[in-house]
Amino acid sequence: MAARDYPLIGLTTRSIQTEIANSPVDFHGLAQAYIGAVRAAGGAPVLLPHGATDEELGALAGRLDGLLLTGGKDVDPAEYGEEALPQCGAVSAARDRLEFSLVRHAVRLELPLLAICRGPQVVNVALGGSLWQDLPAQLPNAIRHNFRGPEYHAVLAHRVTIAAGSRLQAILGAEEVGVNSSHHQAIRELADGLVATAHAPDGVIEGVELPGHSFAVGVQWHPELMYREHPIMLRLFEALVEAARGTGRGI
Ligand code: MN
Repeated sequence: MAARDYPLIGLTTRSIQTEIANSPVDFHGLAQAYIGAVRAAGGAPVLLPHGATDEELGALAGRLDGLLLTGGKDVDPAEYGEEALPQCGAVSAARDRLEFSLVRHAVRLELPLLAICRGPQVVNVALGGSLWQDLPAQLPNAIRHNFRGPEYHAVLAHRVTIAAGSRLQAILGAEEVGVNSSHHQAIRELADGLVATAHAPDGVIEGVELPGHSFAVGVQWHPELMYREHPIMLRLFEALVEAARGTGRGI
């Protein structure tokens, strides 16, 4: 098998405190669903821990074939010039540093990038945009987005409409899809160059892409938890892997 048959897809991890032999241990890990989705699409997953220097991440980005930004904690509002509201959740400075650096390297290197849940929020802030810190507090007329049960997985929580002519529409082949929803934040002001490509019925941004980039797509939902029951969602990972192989067909 040639290396291009298994493009290397970097996935960002989260820090988890656990115990081994009654001793506290700091783990970097990732929900299996992301790893399974990348493998199901034909990619080889590479887990990226916190703590790397910008230089190290530049070297990594130069060797990876694609990048997947995964879900996680809230972005520190200081990164977009705001004080944290009481409703803002826990943040991770190390995770923010890891992902902001990776986004900038991915943009510079035209590294194919798929961003999930926290991912499109990270891309937006890294490129100069801002977030709603808490949808229920700041957009009280919004529909419910912060599900924690079955609607976090494969039960559809709401519809999203997908912009005509977007890469997202080319990937999914649909003008509207049902999605899960487990987020209390969302993109507020879009960064320059980033385009909104999917919206919930309340207008909340659920999809973004960078039109000038070879492949940079973000979705606010969790396709990795849907693709078994809703195979259309595997296409997002397949499109990333195709772009990572350099054999994307323009989508
Ligand atoms: Mn939602």
